[in-house]
Amino acid sequence: MSETAQFDLLIIGGGINGAGIARDAAGRGLRVLLAEQDDLASGTSSRSSKLIHGGLRYLETYQFRLVREALQEREVLLKIAPHIIWPLKFVLPHVPSMRPRLLLRAGLWLYDHIGGRMSLPKSGALELEIAPEGRPLLPIYGQGFHYSDCWVEDMRLVVLNAQDAAGRGADIFTRTKVTALHAEAGGWRARLSGNREVMAKVVINAAGPWVGEVLGLKAPQAKPPIRLIKGSHIVVPRLYDGEWAYLCQNDDGRVVFFLPYERDFTLIGTTDVPFDGNPANISCSDEEQDYLLGVARRFFRKAPGKMAVVHQYAGVRSLYDDGAQSAKDITRDYKLTLEHQPAPLLSIYGGKITTYRRLAEHAMELLAPLFPQAGTAWTDAAPLPGGDIDGTHADFVIAMRERYSWLPADLCNRWCRLYGTRIREIIGSAQSLKELGELLAPGLYEAEVDYLVTHEFAQTSDDILWRRTRLGLRLTPAETARLSAHLAKRA
Ligand code: FAD
Repeated sequence: MSETAQFDLLIIGGGINGAGIARDAAGRGLRVLLAEQDDLASGTSSRSSKLIHGGLRYLETYQFRLVREALQEREVLLKIAPHIIWPLKFVLPHVPSMRPRLLLRAGLWLYDHIGGRMSLPKSGALELEIAPEGRPLLPIYGQGFHYSDCWVEDMRLVVLNAQDAAGRGADIFTRTKVTALHAEAGGWRARLSGNREVMAKVVINAAGPWVGEVLGLKAPQAKPPIRLIKGSHIVVPRLYDGEWAYLCQNDDGRVVFFLPYERDFTLIGTTDVPFDGNPANISCSDEEQDYLLGVARRFFRKAPGKMAVVHQYAGVRSLYDDGAQSAKDITRDYKLTLEHQPAPLLSIYGGKITTYRRLAEHAMELLAPLFPQAGTAWTDAAPLPGGDIDGTHADFVIAMRERYSWLPADLCNRWCRLYGTRIREIIGSAQSLKELGELLAPGLYEAEVDYLVTHEFAQTSDDILWRRTRLGLRLTPAETARLSAHLAKRA
Protein backbone atom coordinates (compact mmCIF):
# COMPACT_ATOMS: atom_id res chain seq x y z
CA MET A 1 0.00 0.00 0.00
CA SER A 2 1.35 3.44 -0.91
CA GLU A 3 2.16 5.82 1.94
CA THR A 4 -0.37 8.57 2.73
CA ALA A 5 0.79 11.93 1.30
CA GLN A 6 1.64 14.51 3.99
CA PHE A 7 0.98 18.24 3.70
CA ASP A 8 1.37 21.27 5.91
CA LEU A 9 -1.93 22.72 4.70
CA LEU A 10 -5.00 21.11 3.22
CA ILE A 11 -7.09 23.91 1.76
CA ILE A 12 -10.73 23.01 1.14
CA GLY A 13 -12.14 25.21 -1.63
CA GLY A 14 -10.77 26.56 -4.88
CA GLY A 15 -12.48 29.95 -4.80
CA ILE A 16 -10.54 33.17 -4.49
CA ASN A 17 -9.79 32.71 -0.79
CA GLY A 18 -8.55 29.13 -1.09
CA ALA A 19 -6.49 29.91 -4.19
CA GLY A 20 -5.06 33.09 -2.63
CA ILE A 21 -3.97 31.25 0.52
CA ALA A 22 -2.52 28.39 -1.56
CA ARG A 23 -0.37 30.84 -3.49
CA ASP A 24 0.79 32.77 -0.44
CA ALA A 25 1.59 29.63 1.59
CA ALA A 26 3.36 27.81 -1.27
CA GLY A 27 5.51 30.90 -1.81
CA ARG A 28 6.50 30.77 1.87
CA GLY A 29 7.72 27.22 1.42
CA LEU A 30 4.80 25.25 2.90
CA ARG A 31 3.58 21.97 1.40
CA VAL A 32 0.10 22.78 0.21
CA LEU A 33 -2.77 20.76 -1.19
CA LEU A 34 -5.83 22.60 -2.46
CA ALA A 35 -8.90 20.42 -3.03
CA GLU A 36 -11.81 21.82 -5.02
CA GLN A 37 -14.93 19.70 -5.39
CA ASP A 38 -15.81 21.12 -8.82
CA ASP A 39 -13.82 23.52 -11.03
CA LEU A 40 -11.75 26.43 -9.76
CA ALA A 41 -13.99 29.48 -9.22
CA SER A 42 -17.12 27.42 -9.76
CA GLY A 43 -18.61 28.78 -6.51
CA THR A 44 -19.14 32.41 -5.55
CA SER A 45 -15.87 33.63 -7.03
CA SER A 46 -17.07 33.61 -10.65
CA ARG A 47 -20.49 35.00 -9.73
CA SER A 48 -19.55 38.38 -8.30
CA SER A 49 -20.12 41.90 -9.65
CA LYS A 50 -16.45 41.76 -10.72
CA LEU A 51 -15.36 44.91 -8.94
CA ILE A 52 -12.22 45.64 -7.03
CA HIS A 53 -13.75 48.29 -4.87
CA GLY A 54 -13.63 49.88 -1.48
CA GLY A 55 -17.41 49.76 -1.28
CA LEU A 56 -18.59 53.35 -1.28
CA ARG A 57 -21.74 52.43 0.59
CA TYR A 58 -19.81 50.88 3.49
CA LEU A 59 -18.75 54.42 4.45
CA GLU A 60 -22.39 54.98 5.42
CA THR A 61 -22.13 52.21 8.00
CA TYR A 62 -18.76 53.51 9.24
CA GLN A 63 -16.84 50.39 8.11
CA PHE A 64 -13.73 52.52 7.62
CA ARG A 65 -11.20 49.73 8.14
CA LEU A 66 -12.87 47.59 5.48
CA VAL A 67 -13.00 50.48 3.01
CA ARG A 68 -9.39 51.57 3.68
CA GLU A 69 -7.99 48.05 3.35
CA ALA A 70 -9.97 47.45 0.17
CA LEU A 71 -8.85 50.71 -1.43
CA GLN A 72 -5.22 50.01 -0.55
CA GLU A 73 -5.62 46.58 -2.13
CA ARG A 74 -7.06 48.15 -5.28
CA GLU A 75 -3.66 49.78 -5.88
CA VAL A 76 -1.73 46.59 -5.09
CA LEU A 77 -3.88 44.39 -7.33
CA LEU A 78 -3.74 46.85 -10.23
CA LYS A 79 0.05 46.47 -10.07
CA ILE A 80 0.25 42.69 -9.84
CA ALA A 81 -2.51 41.86 -12.34
CA PRO A 82 -2.79 44.77 -14.80
CA HIS A 83 -4.11 42.48 -17.53
CA ILE A 84 -7.25 41.33 -15.72
CA ILE A 85 -7.86 44.42 -13.56
CA TRP A 86 -8.47 47.90 -14.93
CA PRO A 87 -9.95 51.21 -13.79
CA LEU A 88 -13.65 51.78 -14.28
CA LYS A 89 -15.47 55.08 -13.98
CA PHE A 90 -18.78 55.06 -12.09
CA VAL A 91 -21.59 57.52 -12.59
CA LEU A 92 -23.88 58.07 -9.65
CA PRO A 93 -27.15 59.83 -10.56
CA HIS A 94 -28.43 61.86 -7.63
CA VAL A 95 -31.93 60.90 -6.46
CA PRO A 96 -33.94 62.81 -3.84
CA SER A 97 -33.90 59.89 -1.35
CA MET A 98 -30.08 60.05 -1.25
CA ARG A 99 -28.13 62.11 1.23
CA PRO A 100 -27.78 65.82 0.36
CA ARG A 101 -25.33 66.49 -2.45
CA LEU A 102 -22.84 68.26 -0.21
CA LEU A 103 -22.65 65.21 2.06
CA LEU A 104 -22.21 62.88 -0.93
CA ARG A 105 -19.41 65.09 -2.20
CA ALA A 106 -17.74 64.81 1.22
CA GLY A 107 -18.18 61.02 1.17
CA LEU A 108 -16.55 60.80 -2.26
CA TRP A 109 -13.69 63.02 -1.09
CA LEU A 110 -13.14 60.59 1.79
CA TYR A 111 -13.29 57.66 -0.66
CA ASP A 112 -10.58 59.32 -2.76
CA HIS A 113 -8.31 59.80 0.24
CA ILE A 114 -8.93 57.11 2.87
CA GLY A 115 -6.82 54.48 1.10
CA GLY A 116 -3.75 56.71 0.75
CA ARG A 117 -2.05 57.19 -2.62
CA MET A 118 -4.42 56.66 -5.50
CA SER A 119 -3.55 56.18 -9.17
CA LEU A 120 -7.18 56.39 -10.34
CA PRO A 121 -8.88 59.64 -11.38
CA LYS A 122 -10.43 61.65 -8.55
CA SER A 123 -14.18 61.90 -8.06
CA GLY A 124 -16.26 64.93 -9.03
CA ALA A 125 -19.72 66.34 -9.72
CA LEU A 126 -21.51 65.81 -13.05
CA GLU A 127 -24.15 67.94 -14.78
CA LEU A 128 -26.04 65.00 -16.24
CA GLU A 129 -28.21 67.35 -18.32
CA ILE A 130 -25.21 68.17 -20.48
CA ALA A 131 -22.60 65.45 -19.83
CA PRO A 132 -22.52 62.43 -22.22
CA GLU A 133 -22.93 60.20 -19.16
CA GLY A 134 -26.41 61.69 -18.70
CA ARG A 135 -27.68 60.87 -22.19
CA PRO A 136 -28.75 57.25 -21.57
CA LEU A 137 -30.58 58.28 -18.38
CA LEU A 138 -34.12 59.60 -17.99
CA PRO A 139 -34.11 63.42 -18.05
CA ILE A 140 -35.26 63.63 -14.40
CA TYR A 141 -31.66 62.89 -13.38
CA GLY A 142 -30.04 66.28 -13.81
CA GLN A 143 -27.26 66.05 -11.26
CA GLY A 144 -24.83 63.35 -10.34
CA PHE A 145 -21.28 62.40 -9.43
CA HIS A 146 -18.49 60.30 -10.81
CA TYR A 147 -15.78 58.30 -9.06
CA SER A 148 -13.46 55.44 -9.96
CA ASP A 149 -13.00 51.83 -8.90
CA CYS A 150 -11.69 48.80 -10.79
CA TRP A 151 -13.02 45.93 -12.85
CA VAL A 152 -11.64 42.43 -12.30
CA GLU A 153 -12.01 39.24 -14.30
CA ASP A 154 -13.00 37.45 -11.10
CA MET A 155 -12.76 33.86 -12.34
CA ARG A 156 -9.34 34.50 -13.86
CA LEU A 157 -8.03 36.00 -10.63
CA VAL A 158 -8.80 32.65 -8.99
CA VAL A 159 -7.23 30.59 -11.75
CA LEU A 160 -4.08 32.73 -11.85
CA ASN A 161 -3.61 32.39 -8.09
CA ALA A 162 -3.99 28.61 -8.37
CA GLN A 163 -1.65 28.50 -11.37
CA ASP A 164 0.99 30.50 -9.51
CA ALA A 165 0.55 28.34 -6.40
CA ALA A 166 1.15 25.24 -8.53
CA GLY A 167 4.23 26.89 -10.03
CA ARG A 168 5.54 27.29 -6.47
CA GLY A 169 4.97 23.64 -5.61
CA ALA A 170 1.35 23.43 -4.44
CA ASP A 171 -0.82 20.49 -5.49
CA ILE A 172 -4.10 21.67 -6.99
CA PHE A 173 -6.74 18.94 -7.20
CA THR A 174 -9.91 20.01 -8.95
CA ARG A 175 -13.05 17.85 -8.97
CA THR A 176 -11.92 16.50 -5.64
CA LYS A 177 -14.28 16.77 -2.70
CA VAL A 178 -13.10 16.50 0.89
CA THR A 179 -15.61 14.06 2.34
CA ALA A 180 -14.30 13.33 5.86
CA LEU A 181 -11.90 14.80 8.41
CA HIS A 182 -10.43 12.89 11.37
CA ALA A 183 -8.00 14.31 13.91
CA GLU A 184 -4.88 12.17 14.14
CA ALA A 185 -1.42 12.72 15.66
CA GLY A 186 -2.03 16.45 16.22
CA GLY A 187 -3.11 16.97 12.60
CA TRP A 188 -5.80 15.75 10.23
CA ARG A 189 -6.44 12.69 8.13
CA ALA A 190 -8.73 13.70 5.29
CA ARG A 191 -10.68 11.55 2.91
CA LEU A 192 -10.99 12.82 -0.65
CA SER A 193 -13.41 11.70 -3.34
CA GLY A 194 -11.92 8.93 -5.46
CA ASN A 195 -11.11 6.96 -2.31
CA ARG A 196 -7.92 8.84 -1.55
CA GLU A 197 -6.55 9.95 1.83
CA VAL A 198 -4.07 12.62 2.80
CA MET A 199 -2.58 13.90 6.06
CA ALA A 200 -2.25 17.59 6.86
CA LYS A 201 -1.04 19.53 9.90
CA VAL A 202 -3.68 22.23 9.36
CA VAL A 203 -6.97 22.29 7.47
CA ILE A 204 -8.19 25.54 5.98
CA ASN A 205 -11.92 25.72 5.50
CA ALA A 206 -12.24 28.07 2.52
CA ALA A 207 -15.46 26.50 1.32
CA GLY A 208 -17.41 29.76 0.94
CA PRO A 209 -21.13 29.01 1.16
CA TRP A 210 -20.26 25.43 2.14
CA VAL A 211 -18.21 26.57 5.15
CA GLY A 212 -20.87 25.17 7.52
CA GLU A 213 -21.01 21.84 5.69
CA VAL A 214 -17.22 21.47 6.02
CA LEU A 215 -17.38 22.35 9.73
CA GLY A 216 -19.97 19.61 10.00
CA LEU A 217 -17.36 17.06 8.86
CA LYS A 218 -15.59 17.71 12.15
CA ALA A 219 -18.50 18.49 14.48
CA PRO A 220 -21.87 17.48 12.97
CA GLN A 221 -23.88 19.26 15.69
CA ALA A 222 -22.10 22.63 15.40
CA LYS A 223 -24.15 25.67 14.36
CA PRO A 224 -21.79 27.93 12.42
CA PRO A 225 -22.31 31.70 12.77
CA ILE A 226 -23.12 32.33 9.11
CA ARG A 227 -25.85 34.00 7.11
CA LEU A 228 -26.16 32.94 3.48
CA ILE A 229 -27.25 35.71 1.13
CA LYS A 230 -27.97 35.11 -2.53
CA GLY A 231 -27.13 37.79 -5.08
CA SER A 232 -28.05 37.65 -8.76
CA HIS A 233 -27.07 39.37 -11.98
CA ILE A 234 -28.58 39.55 -15.44
CA VAL A 235 -26.87 40.24 -18.77
CA VAL A 236 -28.64 42.24 -21.49
CA PRO A 237 -27.48 43.63 -24.84
CA ARG A 238 -25.50 46.79 -24.31
CA LEU A 239 -27.74 49.48 -22.78
CA TYR A 240 -25.58 52.49 -23.64
CA ASP A 241 -22.46 53.38 -25.60
CA GLY A 242 -20.01 54.64 -22.99
CA GLU A 243 -17.30 52.60 -21.28
CA TRP A 244 -18.38 53.78 -17.82
CA ALA A 245 -20.63 52.10 -15.26
CA TYR A 246 -23.65 53.40 -13.33
CA LEU A 247 -24.40 52.97 -9.67
CA CYS A 248 -28.12 53.57 -9.19
CA GLN A 249 -29.89 53.79 -5.86
CA ASN A 250 -33.32 52.19 -5.92
CA ASP A 251 -36.22 53.51 -3.82
CA ASP A 252 -35.70 50.69 -1.28
CA GLY A 253 -32.25 52.12 -0.53
CA ARG A 254 -30.32 49.33 -2.31
CA VAL A 255 -27.82 50.15 -5.03
CA VAL A 256 -27.68 48.34 -8.37
CA PHE A 257 -24.73 48.41 -10.77
CA PHE A 258 -24.97 48.71 -14.56
CA LEU A 259 -21.60 47.58 -15.91
CA PRO A 260 -20.15 47.45 -19.44
CA TYR A 261 -19.66 43.74 -20.10
CA GLU A 262 -17.82 41.81 -22.78
CA ARG A 263 -18.02 44.71 -25.27
CA ASP A 264 -21.59 44.02 -26.47
CA PHE A 265 -23.44 43.61 -23.19
CA THR A 266 -24.45 45.30 -19.93
CA LEU A 267 -24.24 43.41 -16.64
CA ILE A 268 -26.91 44.40 -14.09
CA GLY A 269 -26.79 43.41 -10.42
CA THR A 270 -27.16 42.62 -7.72
CA THR A 271 -29.97 41.46 -5.45
CA ASP A 272 -29.69 40.50 -1.76
CA VAL A 273 -31.93 37.59 -0.79
CA PRO A 274 -31.61 35.44 2.38
CA PHE A 275 -30.86 31.88 1.29
CA ASP A 276 -31.02 28.45 2.90
CA GLY A 277 -30.91 25.98 -0.01
CA ASN A 278 -28.11 24.15 -1.78
CA PRO A 279 -25.57 26.72 -3.08
CA ALA A 280 -24.66 24.40 -5.95
CA ASN A 281 -27.83 24.81 -8.00
CA ILE A 282 -28.92 28.40 -7.98
CA SER A 283 -30.08 30.89 -10.55
CA CYS A 284 -31.59 34.33 -10.75
CA SER A 285 -35.30 33.92 -9.94
CA ASP A 286 -38.11 35.60 -11.89
CA GLU A 287 -38.66 38.03 -9.00
CA GLU A 288 -34.98 38.98 -8.96
CA GLN A 289 -35.00 39.55 -12.73
CA ASP A 290 -38.11 41.73 -12.37
CA TYR A 291 -36.43 43.68 -9.59
CA LEU A 292 -33.28 44.38 -11.62
CA LEU A 293 -35.27 45.26 -14.77
CA GLY A 294 -37.43 47.54 -12.62
CA VAL A 295 -34.37 49.50 -11.50
CA ALA A 296 -33.29 49.76 -15.15
CA ARG A 297 -36.72 51.22 -16.01
CA ARG A 298 -36.41 53.73 -13.20
CA PHE A 299 -33.15 55.12 -14.56
CA PHE A 300 -32.69 54.44 -18.29
CA ARG A 301 -34.45 55.83 -21.35
CA LYS A 302 -34.18 52.54 -23.24
CA ALA A 303 -34.74 49.97 -20.51
CA PRO A 304 -34.66 46.31 -21.57
CA GLY A 305 -37.62 43.96 -21.15
CA LYS A 306 -37.50 40.38 -19.86
CA MET A 307 -37.03 39.00 -23.38
CA ALA A 308 -33.75 40.91 -23.65
CA VAL A 309 -32.06 38.93 -20.86
CA VAL A 310 -29.42 36.79 -22.59
CA HIS A 311 -27.77 35.34 -19.51
CA GLN A 312 -28.14 35.31 -15.73
CA TYR A 313 -26.17 34.01 -12.79
CA ALA A 314 -26.45 33.91 -9.03
CA GLY A 315 -23.93 33.53 -6.22
CA VAL A 316 -24.16 33.00 -2.47
CA ARG A 317 -22.22 35.06 0.02
CA SER A 318 -21.47 33.34 3.30
CA LEU A 319 -21.34 36.26 5.69
CA TYR A 320 -20.26 36.23 9.29
CA ASP A 321 -23.47 36.63 11.29
CA ASP A 322 -23.03 39.86 13.20
CA GLY A 323 -26.70 40.00 14.20
CA ALA A 324 -27.69 42.66 11.65
CA GLN A 325 -31.39 42.70 10.81
CA SER A 326 -31.37 43.07 7.04
CA ALA A 327 -29.27 41.30 4.40
CA LYS A 328 -27.77 44.52 3.05
CA ASP A 329 -26.63 45.62 6.54
CA ILE A 330 -24.59 42.50 7.45
CA THR A 331 -20.87 43.23 7.37
CA ARG A 332 -18.98 42.22 4.21
CA ASP A 333 -15.76 42.19 6.23
CA TYR A 334 -14.07 38.83 6.61
CA LYS A 335 -13.60 36.89 9.80
CA LEU A 336 -11.01 34.16 10.39
CA THR A 337 -11.36 31.71 13.26
CA LEU A 338 -8.56 29.34 14.25
CA GLU A 339 -9.52 26.36 16.39
CA HIS A 340 -6.81 24.14 17.89
CA GLN A 341 -8.96 21.24 19.13
CA PRO A 342 -8.97 18.46 18.16
CA ALA A 343 -6.43 19.71 15.54
CA PRO A 344 -5.76 23.08 13.87
CA LEU A 345 -8.62 24.24 11.65
CA LEU A 346 -8.85 27.73 10.19
CA SER A 347 -12.29 28.77 8.90
CA ILE A 348 -13.02 31.74 6.67
CA TYR A 349 -16.27 33.67 6.79
CA GLY A 350 -17.34 36.46 4.48
CA GLY A 351 -14.90 38.65 2.64
CA LYS A 352 -14.65 40.12 -0.81
CA ILE A 353 -12.68 39.31 -3.91
CA THR A 354 -11.00 42.69 -3.38
CA THR A 355 -9.41 41.75 -0.06
CA TYR A 356 -8.47 38.14 -0.80
CA ARG A 357 -4.71 38.82 -0.79
CA ARG A 358 -4.79 40.55 2.61
CA LEU A 359 -7.05 37.79 3.91
CA ALA A 360 -4.41 35.25 2.84
CA GLU A 361 -1.72 37.27 4.64
CA HIS A 362 -3.84 37.41 7.79
CA ALA A 363 -4.39 33.65 7.59
CA MET A 364 -0.63 33.11 7.35
CA GLU A 365 -0.05 35.45 10.32
CA LEU A 366 -2.46 33.37 12.41
CA LEU A 367 -0.70 30.15 11.38
CA ALA A 368 2.84 31.51 11.87
CA PRO A 369 3.34 29.92 15.34
CA LEU A 370 2.57 26.51 13.82
CA PHE A 371 5.05 26.98 10.96
CA PRO A 372 8.09 28.85 12.29
CA GLN A 373 10.02 27.83 9.17
CA ALA A 374 7.60 29.65 6.82
CA GLY A 375 8.82 32.67 4.87
CA THR A 376 7.53 36.21 5.27
CA ALA A 377 4.81 38.07 3.37
CA TRP A 378 5.67 38.43 -0.32
CA THR A 379 2.56 38.65 -2.49
CA ASP A 380 2.16 42.44 -2.62
CA ALA A 381 4.82 42.92 -5.28
CA ALA A 382 4.96 39.66 -7.22
CA PRO A 383 2.93 39.74 -10.46
CA LEU A 384 0.37 37.04 -11.08
CA PRO A 385 0.95 34.89 -14.18
CA GLY A 386 0.86 37.14 -17.24
CA GLY A 387 0.91 40.31 -15.15
CA ASP A 388 4.61 41.08 -15.65
CA ILE A 389 3.86 43.83 -18.15
CA ASP A 390 6.36 46.65 -18.64
CA GLY A 391 4.62 49.99 -19.06
CA THR A 392 0.87 50.31 -19.51
CA HIS A 393 -1.46 47.60 -20.70
CA ALA A 394 -2.30 49.75 -23.74
CA ASP A 395 1.41 49.85 -24.71
CA PHE A 396 1.60 46.10 -24.23
CA VAL A 397 -1.35 45.54 -26.58
CA ILE A 398 0.29 47.74 -29.24
CA ALA A 399 3.54 45.77 -28.92
CA MET A 400 1.69 42.44 -29.23
CA ARG A 401 -0.31 43.69 -32.24
CA GLU A 402 2.97 44.59 -33.94
CA ARG A 403 4.68 41.35 -33.01
CA TYR A 404 1.77 39.13 -34.06
CA SER A 405 0.50 41.26 -36.93
CA TRP A 406 -1.16 38.19 -38.50
CA LEU A 407 -3.42 37.74 -35.47
CA PRO A 408 -6.89 39.37 -35.88
CA ALA A 409 -7.06 42.51 -33.71
CA ASP A 410 -10.05 41.23 -31.69
CA LEU A 411 -8.31 37.99 -30.84
CA CYS A 412 -5.05 39.73 -29.94
CA ASN A 413 -6.92 42.17 -27.66
CA ARG A 414 -8.84 39.37 -25.99
CA TRP A 415 -5.72 37.31 -25.36
CA CYS A 416 -3.78 40.33 -24.04
CA ARG A 417 -6.59 40.90 -21.55
CA LEU A 418 -7.04 37.31 -20.43
CA TYR A 419 -3.47 36.06 -20.52
CA GLY A 420 -1.20 39.14 -20.43
CA THR A 421 2.38 38.15 -21.22
CA ARG A 422 1.36 34.45 -21.33
CA ILE A 423 -0.04 35.20 -24.80
CA ARG A 424 3.47 34.23 -25.96
CA GLU A 425 3.03 30.74 -24.55
CA ILE A 426 -0.29 30.26 -26.31
CA ILE A 427 1.14 31.35 -29.64
CA GLY A 428 4.46 29.57 -29.19
CA SER A 429 6.24 29.30 -32.52
CA ALA A 430 3.07 29.77 -34.63
CA GLN A 431 3.41 32.29 -37.43
CA SER A 432 -0.04 32.15 -38.94
CA LEU A 433 -3.62 31.46 -37.86
CA LYS A 434 -3.37 28.03 -39.44
CA GLU A 435 -0.57 27.16 -37.06
CA LEU A 436 -2.84 27.83 -34.06
CA GLY A 437 -4.61 24.57 -34.92
CA GLU A 438 -8.25 23.88 -35.57
CA LEU A 439 -10.80 26.68 -35.19
CA LEU A 440 -13.09 24.96 -32.67
CA ALA A 441 -15.61 27.81 -32.38
CA PRO A 442 -15.63 31.44 -33.53
CA GLY A 443 -12.46 32.99 -32.09
CA LEU A 444 -11.44 29.80 -30.26
CA TYR A 445 -8.40 28.00 -31.66
CA GLU A 446 -6.96 24.71 -30.53
CA ALA A 447 -3.82 26.48 -29.22
CA GLU A 448 -5.86 28.39 -26.62
CA VAL A 449 -7.74 25.27 -25.54
CA ASP A 450 -4.45 23.37 -25.24
CA TYR A 451 -3.01 26.13 -23.06
CA LEU A 452 -6.08 26.17 -20.80
CA VAL A 453 -6.05 22.41 -20.35
CA THR A 454 -2.29 22.18 -19.84
CA HIS A 455 -1.68 25.25 -17.69
CA GLU A 456 -4.99 26.35 -16.22
CA PHE A 457 -6.64 23.11 -14.97
CA ALA A 458 -9.51 23.30 -17.49
CA GLN A 459 -11.26 20.02 -18.23
CA THR A 460 -14.73 20.68 -19.63
CA SER A 461 -16.28 23.09 -22.13
CA ASP A 462 -17.94 24.96 -19.24
CA ASP A 463 -14.55 25.43 -17.57
CA ILE A 464 -13.28 27.00 -20.80
CA LEU A 465 -16.35 28.96 -21.86
CA TRP A 466 -17.37 30.38 -18.46
CA ARG A 467 -14.44 30.21 -16.03
CA ARG A 468 -11.35 30.79 -18.22
CA THR A 469 -12.97 32.94 -20.92
CA ARG A 470 -16.54 34.25 -21.34
CA LEU A 471 -16.97 32.91 -24.83
CA GLY A 472 -20.01 31.05 -23.49
CA LEU A 473 -21.97 34.28 -24.00
CA ARG A 474 -21.46 34.04 -27.75
CA LEU A 475 -21.37 30.35 -28.65
CA THR A 476 -24.27 28.30 -30.00
CA PRO A 477 -25.11 24.89 -28.44
CA ALA A 478 -23.66 23.21 -31.55
CA GLU A 479 -20.35 25.07 -31.14
CA THR A 480 -20.24 24.14 -27.46
CA ALA A 481 -20.90 20.50 -28.34
CA ARG A 482 -18.03 20.60 -30.83
CA LEU A 483 -15.69 21.89 -28.13
CA SER A 484 -16.87 19.17 -25.73
CA ALA A 485 -16.23 16.53 -28.39
CA HIS A 486 -12.73 17.94 -28.96
CA LEU A 487 -11.98 17.82 -25.21
CA ALA A 488 -13.25 14.25 -24.96
CA LYS A 489 -11.02 13.22 -27.87
CA ARG A 490 -8.07 15.05 -26.36
CA ALA A 491 -8.51 13.37 -22.95
P1 FAD B 1 -16.16 30.43 -3.17
O1 FAD B 1 -15.75 31.16 -4.37
O2 FAD B 1 -17.61 30.06 -3.08
O3 FAD B 1 -15.27 29.12 -3.09
C1 FAD B 1 -15.55 28.05 -2.22
C2 FAD B 1 -15.22 26.77 -2.96
O4 FAD B 1 -15.22 25.69 -2.06
C3 FAD B 1 -16.26 26.42 -4.03
O5 FAD B 1 -15.64 26.46 -5.31
C4 FAD B 1 -16.73 25.03 -3.65
O6 FAD B 1 -16.97 24.20 -4.76
C5 FAD B 1 -15.59 24.53 -2.78
N1 FAD B 1 -15.97 23.48 -1.80
C6 FAD B 1 -17.00 23.54 -0.92
N2 FAD B 1 -17.03 22.41 -0.18
C7 FAD B 1 -15.98 21.63 -0.59
C8 FAD B 1 -15.48 20.35 -0.19
N3 FAD B 1 -16.07 19.62 0.78
N4 FAD B 1 -14.39 19.87 -0.84
C9 FAD B 1 -13.77 20.59 -1.83
N5 FAD B 1 -14.22 21.78 -2.23
C10 FAD B 1 -15.30 22.32 -1.61
N6 FAD B 1 -16.51 40.84 -3.88
C11 FAD B 1 -15.80 41.86 -4.43
O7 FAD B 1 -14.70 42.15 -4.00
N7 FAD B 1 -16.28 42.59 -5.46
C12 FAD B 1 -17.52 42.37 -5.99
O8 FAD B 1 -17.92 43.03 -6.94
C13 FAD B 1 -18.31 41.35 -5.40
N8 FAD B 1 -19.55 41.11 -5.87
C14 FAD B 1 -20.27 40.08 -5.37
C15 FAD B 1 -21.55 39.84 -5.87
C16 FAD B 1 -22.28 38.76 -5.43
C17 FAD B 1 -23.66 38.50 -5.98
C18 FAD B 1 -21.74 37.88 -4.46
C19 FAD B 1 -22.52 36.69 -4.02
C20 FAD B 1 -20.48 38.14 -3.92
C21 FAD B 1 -19.75 39.23 -4.36
N9 FAD B 1 -18.47 39.53 -3.85
C22 FAD B 1 -17.75 40.57 -4.36
C23 FAD B 1 -17.91 38.71 -2.76
C24 FAD B 1 -16.99 37.63 -3.33
O9 FAD B 1 -17.50 37.11 -4.53
C25 FAD B 1 -16.83 36.52 -2.31
O10 FAD B 1 -16.45 37.05 -1.07
C26 FAD B 1 -15.76 35.51 -2.72
O11 FAD B 1 -15.96 35.08 -4.04
C27 FAD B 1 -15.78 34.34 -1.77
O12 FAD B 1 -14.77 33.46 -2.18
P2 FAD B 1 -14.52 32.10 -1.43
O13 FAD B 1 -13.26 31.53 -1.95
O14 FAD B 1 -14.63 32.29 0.04
O15 FAD B 1 -15.81 31.20 -1.81
